[in-house]
Amino acid sequence: MGRRVLKPGQKYGRLTLLSKAQKNGRSGYWLCKCECGNKKIIRSDSIGRRTVSCGCYGKKVLEEQHKRKLATKYEDFDSKAYSPYYRLYHTWGHMKSRCYNANNNVYYLYGGRGIKVCDEWRDNYQCFKKWALANGWDLHAKGMEQSIDRIDPNKDYEPDNCRWVNAQTQALNKRNNFFITINGESRSITEWSRLKNIDPGVIRRRYYKYGLRGEDLFNPIPREMKYANNNKILFKDEMVPVVDLCRQYGISDATLRKRYERGWRDDELIKRPEHKPLIKMEYKGKMYSISELCNNFGFKETTLRRRYSKGLDVYGNEKSNNSDKQLENKRVKATKKKEGM
Ligand SMILES: [Zn+2]
Repeated sequence: MGRRVLKPGQKYGRLTLLSKAQKNGRSGYWLCKCECGNKKIIRSDSIGRRTVSCGCYGKKVLEEQHKRKLATKYEDFDSKAYSPYYRLYHTWGHMKSRCYNANNNVYYLYGGRGIKVCDEWRDNYQCFKKWALANGWDLHAKGMEQSIDRIDPNKDYEPDNCRWVNAQTQALNKRNNFFITINGESRSITEWSRLKNIDPGVIRRRYYKYGLRGEDLFNPIPREMKYANNNKILFKDEMVPVVDLCRQYGISDATLRKRYERGWRDDELIKRPEHKPLIKMEYKGKMYSISELCNNFGFKETTLRRRYSKGLDVYGNEKSNNSDKQLENKRVKATKKKEGM
């Protein structure tokens, strides 16, 4: 082969030359960019001859060959996952299974009741496929979006009694659906949720938990309703706001509520765990409990406790103007520790 001169910017197959490159310390290579976006270093003499892509071209050719081979080799090509008709093939299979396989979970609703698949469909998938394509089977629907439905549920699977429906229509035809009537319109919760663009769970909660009806279902739960019984609890024969108790005794809101739900009352409610004594630390000239510091100013509980035990301030610095009393406390603590050893 004649010598050729490679230059940056030249195109061979899917490759565009970028710059000369080395591989394993040897020259005679080019850095190339492939149409697919990959960059690769390739031997100069094979560019455009042995090598026309980063590898993506060969891969594609092989895949296509493989598919063509399979299509001609097997009649049940549609049963393979890479076939676009995979879903249809399995609809056919499941339909037969419901009617003829006594081990199928729902056999009692189909075969058990004498429902059959007509002969031409039962023995011939291609025949079923032909009917499906002519009667609105959607190639692009996914999974449960489309399914085969019998118009008269007491008749067999046969061309005249079957149609393709989307899963929503089919679910709507079930008897046990629950309807909510608003302004004279009856719809299921799912339908309302789609119509109003609200999560069905939210509507369900408003309906069942808060007893809201009508248009109220589409508006947020009123604040006073949401917190009606939550913001005050019985404490020493009085209804006291939870917030006040938290502030006064330095216990977190969540802890208080949890205890109250468990049936703890009065002193039990505000009891501090023995390994976690109430600690107040100074922050910007005010005294706060540790839980307040954590919740309101983003400190970490363990860090604050460690700093406190070392006699440091909230930032971990030595306290600049320790009062005599604090120093005394520290000393007493230290000596106690020594005695304990
Ligand atoms: Zn490529």
